[in-house]
Amino acid sequence: MSFRSRREFLTASACGAILASRGMGGQEPDSSASVSEASADVAAKKVDCHLHINHFDRSIDDTIAHMDATGTDKAFVLPLETGEGGVLLRAETVLHAWHQHPDRIIPFCQTDIRRDDVLQRVRAYHLLGCRGVGEQKEHLPLSDRRVEAIIALCDELNWPITIHFQDGANGYNQGLAEHLERYLKRYRQVRIIGHAQTWWANISADVPPPDRGGLYPKGPVKPGGLLDRLLGEYPNLYADMSAGSGFNALSRDEEFTAGFIDRHPDQLLFGSDCPCRDGRGANFKGQCYATQLQSFLERIVSTRENLQKIYVDNAMRALNGNED
Ligand SMILES: [Zn+2]
Ligand SMILES: [Zn+2]
Repeated sequence: MSFRSRREFLTASACGAILASRGMGGQEPDSSASVSEASADVAAKKVDCHLHINHFDRSIDDTIAHMDATGTDKAFVLPLETGEGGVLLRAETVLHAWHQHPDRIIPFCQTDIRRDDVLQRVRAYHLLGCRGVGEQKEHLPLSDRRVEAIIALCDELNWPITIHFQDGANGYNQGLAEHLERYLKRYRQVRIIGHAQTWWANISADVPPPDRGGLYPKGPVKPGGLLDRLLGEYPNLYADMSAGSGFNALSRDEEFTAGFIDRHPDQLLFGSDCPCRDGRGANFKGQCYATQLQSFLERIVSTRENLQKIYVDNAMRALNGNED
């Protein structure tokens, strides 16, 4: 075997080492064992579907400390390579963290979809061990052909993609109500994980414009919202409950939320998107999105079975697809 450059050699070596560590043929690691172990104690083995390193400058060690403090066994760690939302995290850093903590970190990748080489780069991250794309958060409308291209690649790779939906000026992936269903119809293998303000505003049939309270709408939910319909019709669509947007939507009308959870118990994902370092929010308004959501869920979810799904099983199905 010969390599044209040192870079090519290093890339091939890294891929080889990762493939070897996953077993012959580069098969996915077996996740079923950790899932069944978790059923013994729901509270101790959560999967956080939305976490960043570098969030408020949080180190890798402090990110693991956050997981330890919040009963989180594993986390989808999501790069944000363009830094457009204020957090800048390279996929290389996530891969480095995964090599240090292979049983805790589930590495995702994300890179600038406006670059011509984006699909090649994502394919390289796939070979290096990444398991999905996210957080997809760039100032482009959802209808942009480059957004569709990254969704199509995830479909081909049998991957999830976590998308930040925020309508309005300076938003991200604007146009959920107009364009998401077209992708859900066209791409049946990719798991689309919906996140952020406009995603959650659509829990209600009444969605105010983004510049008039529509990013964090308050008050009772009007039944018949887009999320209920899309989650009902497309089993590969998942809802990421993380951050202030998730908590606002779930807590604004508890009676509605209890029914929403009972209607879609297989598609809701526990997640935090929390920047704190200790599970108590010492560096973040004295608040931790992970523990805040956990207290809420443990009060409102009707069965331990559904709680186990939200904490663990749904995340693993979103990660692996249906064939595991
Ligand atoms: Zn995030
Ligand atoms: Zn926290």
